[in-house]
Amino acid sequence: MDHQTPTIAILTDWIGPFQKTVLGALQETLNAAGVGTVTYVGREVHHPNPIYGTSNDIYHLFDPQAHQAVFVLTSTLGNHSIDQELLAFMQPFLQLPVVGFGRKLPGIPTVRLSNRSGMQELMEHLLIERGYQNFVFMRGPEDNPESIEREEVFREALRQHGREFQEDHCLNGAFYPPTARHVMMHFLEAGHRDFDCVVCANDEMALAVMGVLEEHGLHVPQDVAVVGFDDIEMGQFGSSPLTTVHQPVSEMAKVAARMLLAMLQGMPQEDVLVPSRLVVRESCGSAGKRPTQVAPVEQGETERTLHQLFLSDLETAGEVFLPAWKKALEEIRTAAELERHQQLLLHWSVDLQHLQAAQQQRALALGLQASHLVSERILRLETRHTVGQLQYTRHVSHVGTSMGAHDTLEGLLDELKHSLPSIGLHYFMLALYDHYGPTPGSRLKIHLSSGGVGTEGDVLETRALLPGYLLQRPLLNWQVHPIYVNDEHYGCFMMVEPQGWGGDEELLRYLVTRSIHHMVKTRALIRHSEELEQQVQDRTRQLEEANRELRRSLLLDGLTRVYNRSAFDDYLRRMWKEHQRSGQSLSVIMCDVDFFKKYNDACGHLAGDDCLRAIAQALSQAAYRPGDMVARYGGEEFVVVLPDTTAEGAKHVAMRIQETVAALKLRHPASEVSPHITLSMGVKAHVPRAGEDPMQLVHAADQGLYHSKRLRRNCITVL
Ligand code: GH3
Ligand code: MG
Ligand code: MG
Repeated sequence: MDHQTPTIAILTDWIGPFQKTVLGALQETLNAAGVGTVTYVGREVHHPNPIYGTSNDIYHLFDPQAHQAVFVLTSTLGNHSIDQELLAFMQPFLQLPVVGFGRKLPGIPTVRLSNRSGMQELMEHLLIERGYQNFVFMRGPEDNPESIEREEVFREALRQHGREFQEDHCLNGAFYPPTARHVMMHFLEAGHRDFDCVVCANDEMALAVMGVLEEHGLHVPQDVAVVGFDDIEMGQFGSSPLTTVHQPVSEMAKVAARMLLAMLQGMPQEDVLVPSRLVVRESCGSAGKRPTQVAPVEQGETERTLHQLFLSDLETAGEVFLPAWKKALEEIRTAAELERHQQLLLHWSVDLQHLQAAQQQRALALGLQASHLVSERILRLETRHTVGQLQYTRHVSHVGTSMGAHDTLEGLLDELKHSLPSIGLHYFMLALYDHYGPTPGSRLKIHLSSGGVGTEGDVLETRALLPGYLLQRPLLNWQVHPIYVNDEHYGCFMMVEPQGWGGDEELLRYLVTRSIHHMVKTRALIRHSEELEQQVQDRTRQLEEANRELRRSLLLDGLTRVYNRSAFDDYLRRMWKEHQRSGQSLSVIMCDVDFFKKYNDACGHLAGDDCLRAIAQALSQAAYRPGDMVARYGGEEFVVVLPDTTAEGAKHVAMRIQETVAALKLRHPASEVSPHITLSMGVKAHVPRAGEDPMQLVHAADQGLYHSKRLRRNCITVL
């Protein structure tokens, strides 16, 4: 692939405050040298919770062709792995120049913090200046090299100063505040009060420990001193501001960036050890004892002018300084700059020692007012920042809610397209696997792209193509986030974090993941319920068919498939009532096969059955009107019901029956009246009246039949 812009691949386990500080400083230096980055955000290697394993699939998207060097956050990425495991994981990346950060691995140039220098300073402060005697040590995870190093220095310092350390005073908080809380609580509840200082291997554990101590009535630092390591921002807001060891993270990241740039020029690099340093606050019992040094402050053009105005106000009692000071403060956008102005005031006031008393009074008053203006400005700045954060959080939660409400891909994509720019993102891409999962051979397809990078609908045939897309625009710092829930890996979300963006990538990643998961699951549910619905419909149809068949077979005669006796009874009764109402004539024809016993005797019962079936067919043909009904009355007797039919009409049908049967020419070797099968019939027509019974009609037709038999058979009697 042809690259205009060299890019560094960054491997990290998370985008938290620590990682953001590292990435920010690293990218600033690299970008200034015309180098872009792609950050692959997986999770810690060999994390004990297997759920995170899926996340690390993102590292497989790494393409050595697409990058010129690799930066690995070895410290956090390897939180749960020993050196060999971490090295094995890094094997595929080692074909490019690699710089490690935070944790030394054999053969990999690393920028590392010297835990030693800061820890030594801290211990000396505690032992010499504060004179503590009995220590508790709260360590990190057993195998964690940083925790091990901090503990080593702690123990060495005690030895050097001839202090005993009781082994049961070494507690394991695993760098994890809840664990630290728990073990500290046990320690206190076991009755231990024989300590005056708790040294924690990181700040988060120190804050947890301070909480537990206060809960047990021990005040920090009056009763017990607590110190930490890392200098996290929160440390300043514990029950007592935390004394700790500062890691110059940004400076370290800048060193790493310069190493990477040198390696791109083919210059091999050595490890760099950056010293940590002690930060004394109050939790070690040093409140108010800090030396107040007034460091000289460098003044620019504006500051010098302000100083002149300040001095002239002292001389002439004019009122020019404060308005100018206020105006200058209004232009300032950062808290650090404002704090520098506080120092300026301090510096100027120290400078005024030689003035007369009256002028000193004025200087003090002016300084106080000016300082007040600075504080006010800081407060406003911070409040605005907090309000901004709050608004952002509220906005993101709205966006999250509307993202999570889609059950079609189209709807979700549309939502993302509109809502991501509204939270300040302008470059982003969403690539999903076919069928929403990396089944063998499944490919990533770009479903959404913004900022002119990538093309929607493009399929990324191989993993190698992914960074290719990200590199089409020069000098962007991309992040690649996997989208997965448990083992279901849907694809990845890529974004460029805008400069000074106040958002939270991990929250965004969670929201995007959740809405895709919701969409996929809802679609699956809809599909499933559609399938169920179809199955239910099919089954209902089959059941209805079977029911109809059952009902029919209940009404039909098994041998001849014309209606049976009970169907005839029902039908006759129904017709009887209808004709009572309509006053029309209802007819019945009773038919009986002549000499059928003899037929059976001569031709056999099977032939007799065939013969009955043929006769039934002939009867059905002859009585063909929609309301006509042919039924087997019993044995070789059939009955025909003819609605709305007079005796005349019924006789007509009877004759047609006779003809149709005759036309069958079924040979009857034993008949005494014909060489073929014949029927004798009785016909009766009647207009039913209230109180009459339909059986009277049947009985009358039967009388007719009887008459026909007696007469000569093969004939019709109309009664
Ligand atoms: P007739 O002319 O007086 O009606 O003489 P017939 O022999 O037809 O009358 P009968 O009532 O004496 O005999 C009816 C015969 O019909 C008796 C029986 O063998 C035969 N039959 C009744 N039902 C069936 C059937 O389902 N199959 C067969 N093959 N024969 C049947
Ligand atoms: Mg009979
Ligand atoms: Mg008969």
